[in-house]
Amino acid sequence: MARRLLILEHETVHAASIVAHCERRGYSAEVTTTFTGFARSWSADVDLVILSLALSRSDGVEAIRFLGQKASEARLIITSDADPRILSAAHRLARARHLRVLGTIEKPCHERYLSELLGRAHTDVEEDSPFMEVQLARDELRRCLEAGLLRVYFQPKIDVRNLEFVSVEALVRLDHPARGLLRPDAFLAMAEESGLIPELTEAVTRDAFTWASRWRGIGIAPKMAVNISPLLLSDLALPDTLLAWAKALSLEPEMVILEVTETWLADDSIAALDTLTRLRLQGFQLSIDDFGTGYSTMAQLNEIPYGEMKLDQSFVRNAARDPEARAIVESSIELGHKLGMRVVAEGIERQEDWDLISDLNCDEGQGYFIARPMAPEELPGWLLHWNACLGGGALPPAREPAVVVA
Ligand code: C2E
Ligand code: CA
Ligand code: CA
Repeated sequence: MARRLLILEHETVHAASIVAHCERRGYSAEVTTTFTGFARSWSADVDLVILSLALSRSDGVEAIRFLGQKASEARLIITSDADPRILSAAHRLARARHLRVLGTIEKPCHERYLSELLGRAHTDVEEDSPFMEVQLARDELRRCLEAGLLRVYFQPKIDVRNLEFVSVEALVRLDHPARGLLRPDAFLAMAEESGLIPELTEAVTRDAFTWASRWRGIGIAPKMAVNISPLLLSDLALPDTLLAWAKALSLEPEMVILEVTETWLADDSIAALDTLTRLRLQGFQLSIDDFGTGYSTMAQLNEIPYGEMKLDQSFVRNAARDPEARAIVESSIELGHKLGMRVVAEGIERQEDWDLISDLNCDEGQGYFIARPMAPEELPGWLLHWNACLGGGALPPAREPAVVVA
């Protein structure tokens, strides 16, 4: 059966050439020229959507919102003859709405690019897949927590200048009996929504501290970074609780980095400021996570005693190719340094990302190019391999772990 293609394009000449091209590739195409027509023609069995963005018309953006609301699983191509920055903004918007974007094309659509993107649809390779396959329901999540099914994976961070292993980030996983090892996007939002985040954080943090203490016993002493949900910052007892867990394992708070996303600034900021300040006074290091995506202003950055800034991977991953992303990375690094912070780039996937962040004088790097998150038992072996390669003076090649989960 022919695959269904739905096109939103107000220029009929463009539409005709896209239709001709796609029909040769086995699509049955329908062209609409307004958002209303598009919404009327859409149904869940559409395989591919090609949207055109035009200046002074909002149809394309409305269609992206509509597809997001319908949880559309169709592949999406966005085209435009407007400013390329508008195209990349629409692209980010579509991904944020969990749409399966194959890519974007500046008009006029060269057949070669269109073929390349259609080829991806055929081979099932998406440019990026933010699509969440699984979402645990509240009761199921509670049962999993009670059954002790949380696991903690660890991803190394490396000093960009001397390539030394400096710290690990603890990343939660859930070993679901039927669905396999799940990443946080399958259950974290539910944990926050249903009040299970304190239990989850306790399980992850205690496990992470236990591993830090075990590794120290065999001569490996990275700093341990844990993610703290912004929701927990209104808990004024958090500093004492964390300190007690660290002390129970003879772990110095100075060896612990608490990663907090920027978004908390929108919420209960006085209690959060109180909690963060006391955590810092107790010796914990504070890191501002996903920097660039939240709401911080210069003044707020200055008020909170952060020692580390983590640049969001969406900028890092694009910086080598996209001048705007590069400008954001470059000026964030400069800003971080001026405020006396260590700057960490996350999401380093390729040699060119690594080269760029090292040229830009970033302090630490984290990403698949260095190592994927791994089970704790794998870390000593990974470190041996890493150090052995360093002896040769080269950046060790990224190695696949035994279990690829990230
Ligand atoms: P995050 O804190 O920004 O963590 C980095 C995420 O990027 C991790 O996803 C990691 O696996 C992934 N990552 C690392 N390097 C690369 C790379 O080179 N390319 C790509 N594409 N991804 C990379 P993960 O483990 O799925 O975690 C997602 C988010 O869930 C984390 O984002 C963090 O916000 C949250 N999270 C994870 N563990 C916990 C936890 O124990 N507590 C809380 N509150 N949040 C957690
Ligand atoms: Ca983090
Ligand atoms: Ca991040």
